[in-house]
Amino acid sequence: MIYPKPEFKERYENFIGGEWTKPVDSQYFNNPSPVDGNVFCQVPRSNYKDVNLAVEAASQAVSIWSKTSATERCLLLNKIADRIETNLELLAVAETWENGKPIRESLHGDLPAVVDHFRYFGSVIRAESGEVADIDAQTVSMEVHEPLGVVGQIIPWNFPVLLAAWKLAPALAAGNCVVLKPAEQTPSTILMVMELIADLLPPGVVNVVNGFGSEAGKPLASHPKIKKVSFTGETTTGRLIMQYAAENIVPVTLELGGKAPNIFHRSVMDADDEFLDKAVEGFVSFAVNQGEVCTSPSRALIHESIYDDFMARCLERVAAIKMGDPLDLSTMSGAQVSSEQFEKIMRYMDIGREEGAEVLIGGDAFENPHYPNGYYVKPTVFKGHNKQRVFQEEIFGPTVSVTTFKDDAEGLQIANDTLYGLSAGVWTRDIHQMQTFARGIEAGRIWCNCYHVYPTHASFGGYKNSGFGRETHRMMLNSYRHTKNILTSY
Ligand code: NAD
Repeated sequence: MIYPKPEFKERYENFIGGEWTKPVDSQYFNNPSPVDGNVFCQVPRSNYKDVNLAVEAASQAVSIWSKTSATERCLLLNKIADRIETNLELLAVAETWENGKPIRESLHGDLPAVVDHFRYFGSVIRAESGEVADIDAQTVSMEVHEPLGVVGQIIPWNFPVLLAAWKLAPALAAGNCVVLKPAEQTPSTILMVMELIADLLPPGVVNVVNGFGSEAGKPLASHPKIKKVSFTGETTTGRLIMQYAAENIVPVTLELGGKAPNIFHRSVMDADDEFLDKAVEGFVSFAVNQGEVCTSPSRALIHESIYDDFMARCLERVAAIKMGDPLDLSTMSGAQVSSEQFEKIMRYMDIGREEGAEVLIGGDAFENPHYPNGYYVKPTVFKGHNKQRVFQEEIFGPTVSVTTFKDDAEGLQIANDTLYGLSAGVWTRDIHQMQTFARGIEAGRIWCNCYHVYPTHASFGGYKNSGFGRETHRMMLNSYRHTKNILTSY
């Protein structure tokens, strides 16, 4: 089935204080689709003046929203979830058009997860009960939570709606008001979501300001009235965000880059066919979302004793990845998000070859007969060693760099030989080995005998240069609120 091209407005505005608001300086930028390379809408090129308006609107709203009951917040989050669910197909098609990801992922992966996120945090806040402790016969200690106030949220382009939901749902559940800045590459689908839910939101509770990082993101992250900055994006930008937030002594959550190892042990080849097929799928998941995933298993570590057999199966499976029209449900790999991202990935193809990595498959652009001007790259497998740049740097494209290891000690050493620590995959039938690797790898999410599974009630976040703070899971509510202790003597 091929979905028809979505319809967008020619021009979108910012959403501030419950109103669609033109940028103060009347500047807009063009938003091209990576699917065909053509501009399909214009979006405000906001600056500090627009950010100030949005923060002001949120500051006014916070005095009311922060006093709402858990039941009211739960109700709103559920209504938002219902509205998005009703319009799932519309939004999935829009997201595919603006981001390039295949419709099978936006329709069956991203958007359902968005809905689940709002429902989950609605349930969690409603079900929460406080902590009360008897200190002695006359004294009771109570832990109570209070919202932080106005929070600034800045997101990248690889999951334009899901990452917004990851941030919005818990912040609202905890009683905060939000100013959100989407990525300049993918502003439209989240604006469509705002159009769908605008009538549900009390004015000022959620505000969306569009624009570029230095012009709209920086004034948001450094605004003196912002009480927290939650950022997802590149590690280099994360460093700047910390500096801006330091000026105001406000907390930050940083979800940054990754270079995940995916480790295949000897027992993978001894297992039954079902397990082996699953492991091959795990390897191939480097191409999910065209590799534009922070957790992408972009380094594969394969035990030397199974390398030839296992690799042969993996390469056969990579060759079967169907490229084509991203709006076709049978397409498995779509377009890279932008011409810049396409060029960056192609540069890494050259870098890999120049530093001696062998290209086992791919290594080139894909000429898409449907869209000759879109940004398509063939899934690519490099063979080399962990010191090469294609093993160390985040390419953020459909590439995996493969190497071998001789024993557990060497496997662990290579896995941890990276600046990043977001995620890892471990494939083995040996439970002891699984634990050794799961505990030994310095990363926030370890997938054992699976990959790219993101339940809302499992925590997610990084070690090392992949950032700090957690998203998803109810534990992260506390990063959106103060904990106050009230100690009472009777
Ligand atoms: P990016 O850092 O270039 O941009 C992310 C956002 O930050 C955008 O909205 C951008 O406009 C804004 N920004 C840029 N410079 C800024 C500045 N000086 N001040 C304030 N805001 C600024 O990242 P990207 O290229 O959009 O996204 C890809 C990166 O995101 C990859 O490194 C990927 O690993 C990471 N990522 C991490 C996670 C995670 O959960 N750890 C999830 C998705 C993506």
